Amino acid sequence: PLVTGMEVDEKPDVEYAQIGGLEEQVVEIKETVELPLKKPELFTNIGIEPPKGVLLYGPPGTGKTLLAKAVAHETNATFIKIVASEFVKKYIGEGARLVRGVFELAKEKSPSIIFIDEIDAIAAKRLKSSTSGDREVQRTLMQLLAEMDGFEGRGDVGIVAATNRPDILDPALLRPGRFDRFIEVPIPNEDGRMEILKIHTKNMSLDEDVDVRLVASLSEGASGADLKAICTESGMFAIREERTTVTMNDFMDAIDKIVGMEHDEEMKKE
Ligand code: ATP
Repeated sequence: PLVTGMEVDEKPDVEYAQIGGLEEQVVEIKETVELPLKKPELFTNIGIEPPKGVLLYGPPGTGKTLLAKAVAHETNATFIKIVASEFVKKYIGEGARLVRGVFELAKEKSPSIIFIDEIDAIAAKRLKSSTSGDREVQRTLMQLLAEMDGFEGRGDVGIVAATNRPDILDPALLRPGRFDRFIEVPIPNEDGRMEILKIHTKNMSLDEDVDVRLVASLSEGASGADLKAICTESGMFAIREERTTVTMNDFMDAIDKIVGMEHDEEMKKE
């Protein structure tokens, strides 16, 4: 079915090697999502239920979607992504039905990974005020919980959700048998930034004056998405000046531009 706010990728091509600075997170997601899909017998033999839902939490642009896609790639699973915020905006009165549809599709296309981005949009703690919009969101959440409770843990459908507001989630969602595993995906430190920059500069034609370690040390606070933008922007500077290599100077200008933009965003929020 063609539904906006939903993306189906039968063969996602992200590999773990394309994810920088998240070694621990990769280990955890392998254990909680990959293992139940690949070796369900390990769980049945020991007599425990594999984790059903894993929640990735952390700031935007840190690699949550990448992690979920990489698991799908590694397990040859279909990747089904829904963006919860778009779902509730676009399908007033239809949220619950669509959630059911997504789970049906996931079973049909199994093995599969359902990735629910911005899950807080349908799973915020219940507010006292109850407008019809709130009730609609509530119904969508109830349907999601029902779907999760409904299928038994023979892990051929893995469920991964992402949020940057774990603090506002309804505790009902986080109960055992639902999203009961949490993986923090933080802003990278300098070593992490170095790893991410290595990945995104791999195919770039760099001048010999480029010191990637220095770029990493000067981009404090940048997310993976920001670092990617810094690489792209530095390449654009080189193209504009009709050069065939990217220089350290281009990187410095790109850092100013990208980190500057971040700064403006924050000012706007305040
Ligand atoms: P959001 O919460 O905004 O959806 P996200 O955490 O899911 O963000 P991604 O969509 O995975 O972030 O990241 C956006 C892009 O930034 C990626 O496609 C990738 O190019 C780059 N990126 C982010 N994090 C990393 C990382 N850890 N290593 C390499 N690239 C990264």
